[in-house]
Amino acid sequence: MNKRFFIALCALFSFVFYANAVKVVFRLDDPTIQFDSVHSHVLKLFIEKEVPLSIALIPCTKAENLYELNDSIYWELLNASNIEIALHGLTHEDINGRGEFGGLSSEETNRRFQKGKRIVEQSFGKTINTFIPPFNATNASFPENMMKNSLLILSADMFQHVPCEGNIQYYPETLGHLMKQKGIWNAARESLITCKEKHAICVIMFHAYDLPDSSAWQQLENLLDLCKNEDEIELYTFCSLYLSGERSSWLRYRANQLTSGLSKLLLMKGVLHPTWLCLLVHTINALIYMLISIIGLIFLLARTSSTKSRRNISVFMLIICVIMFCSAWFHLLSPLKLLLIAFLFNIIPLLFLIKNH
Ligand SMILES: [Zn+2]
Repeated sequence: MNKRFFIALCALFSFVFYANAVKVVFRLDDPTIQFDSVHSHVLKLFIEKEVPLSIALIPCTKAENLYELNDSIYWELLNASNIEIALHGLTHEDINGRGEFGGLSSEETNRRFQKGKRIVEQSFGKTINTFIPPFNATNASFPENMMKNSLLILSADMFQHVPCEGNIQYYPETLGHLMKQKGIWNAARESLITCKEKHAICVIMFHAYDLPDSSAWQQLENLLDLCKNEDEIELYTFCSLYLSGERSSWLRYRANQLTSGLSKLLLMKGVLHPTWLCLLVHTINALIYMLISIIGLIFLLARTSSTKSRRNISVFMLIICVIMFCSAWFHLLSPLKLLLIAFLFNIIPLLFLIKNH
């Protein structure tokens, strides 16, 4: 590799990964307005530690009756200043295995948004701007109906295909795939300690069932202490993250879903990276494959004097460049298969070179 290019690449990545704050949102799913001892303990812990928390609240039972408000102290905890209430559907049903919204018409989606939002806003006297789809299930009418109901933030999961809309902010939960391997609290701790990237966002989603015993509670408490004590960790709710100016458009969400050999190597899992960084790594990855596939042809071109042959080789090079770049960019083959094909493209020109030597 060219020495200057190598130095520039090193400088770029050391700039990208210099120590700075990762932005963290804790998201507790599935509380209702009805008292629950685990949810109550979580709220007390976050209030005591002064850590912001976004709650995905379910407004109604399956029969669309309001959950009963049976404990005023619990209501005050839910209404604390560092707690954001987000709408988690209307009834949180799983209709025909497609979640609450996966199979709904636009009209029914809008009705559920409207009713849920009205109920929660009346219960707490707060404006609700964040929507968290039950079972991560969305439908094509989501962007339009969210905008209609002033729901500006969507938090589903990291690998969901969600409809595009320019003005909605997408802050997906980022640890899902790591939670299965390491357990939620270990995954969160490792991601926060490792991540040093300035604009990375980490959304830690958890449920009451993630706190089954005293050891899990201790892990949560340790995690909150870590977040409070580390200068490089900034804590937000979804709303305050949006107000801080940290944007996450549909493009950023989709760019983070791109995978390649280089992104697996360079970009850490468990956080949402900036759009430009994902696109840069993805583009460099495609260029590397492209370059490997034409090394033989570059040598052949350098050794060829006939104008006609040079033109033919150049055209052939161009075709290979397009094929390899597109295959890598659109992830048509696995990284190893693509690497093998890139090497195979060198065989014919190398045979020519050996023959004419
Ligand atoms: Zn849920």
